[in-house]
Amino acid sequence: MKFYFPDSQDQISPGYDFINDEYPYHRVRQRDDLYAHQAVSPAPYDGILVSKAIVDGTVNGAGKYAGKYTTGQRDRLYRDGVSHFFGLPDTMRSLGDCGAFNYIDQEYPPYSIDEVLDFYYKCGFDSGISIDHVIFGYKPDLSEEDADPAWVKRREISLDLAEKFIEAVKSRNKLMPEGKKRLEPVGAAQGWSPDSYADSVSRLQEMGYKRIALGGMVPLKTPEIIACLERIAGVRKDGVEFHLLGITRVDSMERFVKFHVTSFDSTSAFRQAFMDERNNYHTADRSYMAIRVPQVDGNLALKRLILAGVVSQSEAIKAERECLKLLRQYDTDAGVEVQEVMDALRAYQSLLGDEKKLKKVEKYEATLTDRPWKHCPCDLCRKHKIEMVIFRGTERNKRRGFHNMTVLEAKMRKLPLT
Ligand SMILES: [Zn+2]
Repeated sequence: MKFYFPDSQDQISPGYDFINDEYPYHRVRQRDDLYAHQAVSPAPYDGILVSKAIVDGTVNGAGKYAGKYTTGQRDRLYRDGVSHFFGLPDTMRSLGDCGAFNYIDQEYPPYSIDEVLDFYYKCGFDSGISIDHVIFGYKPDLSEEDADPAWVKRREISLDLAEKFIEAVKSRNKLMPEGKKRLEPVGAAQGWSPDSYADSVSRLQEMGYKRIALGGMVPLKTPEIIACLERIAGVRKDGVEFHLLGITRVDSMERFVKFHVTSFDSTSAFRQAFMDERNNYHTADRSYMAIRVPQVDGNLALKRLILAGVVSQSEAIKAERECLKLLRQYDTDAGVEVQEVMDALRAYQSLLGDEKKLKKVEKYEATLTDRPWKHCPCDLCRKHKIEMVIFRGTERNKRRGFHNMTVLEAKMRKLPLT
């Protein structure tokens, strides 16, 4: 089972100074900053997934979406290729897609086959997914006649583009010089039910696809995914493999494998580090809430309270420093008790005046008592210790996300997958 990490230009600055919360003076982002596969060893994934929409931007309902790349980064990716740009080890795979979620509200995908192929070939991807259009609904019992006409149309658009895509890939692959890497075409299957997914898969196989990416399943419950996979298995041709787009469900991986799912991609382990209400720091058997110590300088809500005269700035800074000091002492000095740290965290949070958040502070006690960072073998926890569980600024939060991926990788490695 191969895990692909979707790129969103998430990097950390290795020389970041946590004590003063400062970047190194001579930092050059594109030279110094590290991707997850460069920051921890072994790399926490088998490959990366790069979306055209993230690189080149697109036009969506909200207007022009600029993507996540600066012009300079985009030019370098096209010029140097995906392996060089990301510093990928030889064993790591690269997969391109269009980023269909970025144009989900458009009637038709905004890219031509040629534009997408230019992206895949110029960047030198190992594999590329055909242009697809996500169906945002699941109704297992609806036949083609009864389904929302927009869904029927989106499935037809995806299949039509997949057919043109594989033909175009074949001709471009023929033109590649001897010894040069050829693109593996991956067909995108969309559907709203087990039957419609199975029909998409069987038509993609007829077109010649040997690898098929199943899209639009992110909101589905696991039994619904299994129901689709079971129906798909009934039409599967020998040798055809499946990729699950946007799905990580470690507990179900063993079942997915039985249905010839050989790869998946997901950002959830990474994003939970700073997007989830409480499951921020993962371990092999549970997750912990990261300890919020907002920066007085960088926190908008806090700034507003200070400007309104509700909170005194000097008091806030004092409380913030006290929290950080005690947290660090707690990590290194046996003399500091959990309750002392908890009192400081409560005092800082009560300054911020949010009752709901103040109640959540109690969750930090488990994080402090169990000290999960002490038991983690990943490079980042070993180096940064308690900073890893402090929710504060992008450098800590992304490191915690990278750590979560190492936990996911270790869990995957332990599964008896064949
Ligand atoms: Zn770790």
